[in-house]
Amino acid sequence: MKCSYCSKEGIADIYGKCYCEEHFNKYFLGRVRSIIDKFGIDGRIAVALSGGKDSAACFYALHSLNLELQPFYINLDIPDYSNACQKKAEELCNLLGYKLEVIELNEYGISLAKKKKPCSTCGTAKRYLMNKFAYENECKYVATGHNLSDVITFAFNNLANVNILNFRGNKPYLEGKEEYKMVAKIKPLYWLKDKECMLYAYINKLPYADEECPYAINAPTLKIKEWIHEIEGKQPGIMVNMAKSFWKLEDLMSRDINLNKCKKCGYASYGNICKFCKIRKR
Ligand code: SF4
Ligand code: ZN
Ligand code: ZN
Repeated sequence: MKCSYCSKEGIADIYGKCYCEEHFNKYFLGRVRSIIDKFGIDGRIAVALSGGKDSAACFYALHSLNLELQPFYINLDIPDYSNACQKKAEELCNLLGYKLEVIELNEYGISLAKKKKPCSTCGTAKRYLMNKFAYENECKYVATGHNLSDVITFAFNNLANVNILNFRGNKPYLEGKEEYKMVAKIKPLYWLKDKECMLYAYINKLPYADEECPYAINAPTLKIKEWIHEIEGKQPGIMVNMAKSFWKLEDLMSRDINLNKCKKCGYASYGNICKFCKIRKR
């Protein structure tokens, strides 16, 4: 099929339009730019690289938009996974002319291998360390590669687990709070699905790791993601509408319930001691 915007061969069908490589790249950057413009993102951005396709696509898109970037990688010390991912993140940085900063989780005395629920510890640690890195490196924002598929999956997983408080944090932009050493968070890929991020990384020949985290196998979120993509296949555009609804719900819910400064580290916490410091103590 021909591209809907020129005479070249199409490579992707999105919401009833066909795109060639060039026009797909334009479409992708346009979606990212809409987030950057809507929230007036201007200033240094710490970009969290995981070695995977999404953060690679996020980094490359922000780089293509000429934003000021500081890439970093959190090494979780997961055997047969973390080092392979770090290598890909390094390759990507070399290709684009950046120096990758690396944070080692084990320097904080935390080992995921010893945890009953590694993903829960991992999530808390990553959120904490991303913010800390951005704050200490004088970045105004921290950008992650969460895409539309992740956002909807996360929201449904929380609904499925009656986890209404954790329902927050799904918006494309979360304001920072200087007094709590909280840096603003952005999700530049908010409007883009898994498949689109994969295609963007593929056609732009970005290095990324194919390895899956060994702890991800059997994660219930995988089934939710499959289910969401199945519905999207039958009713294209439903994921975007869901994201808009979740965004509105979050706006209605968002209040800083008892936000404190952690007594141990001084970063934001919902109790006296933040979750990260509690994990370290254990
Ligand atoms: Fe962390 Fe792996 Fe779990 Fe993802 S699947 S949250 S990387 S432990
Ligand atoms: Zn075209
Ligand atoms: Zn703390």
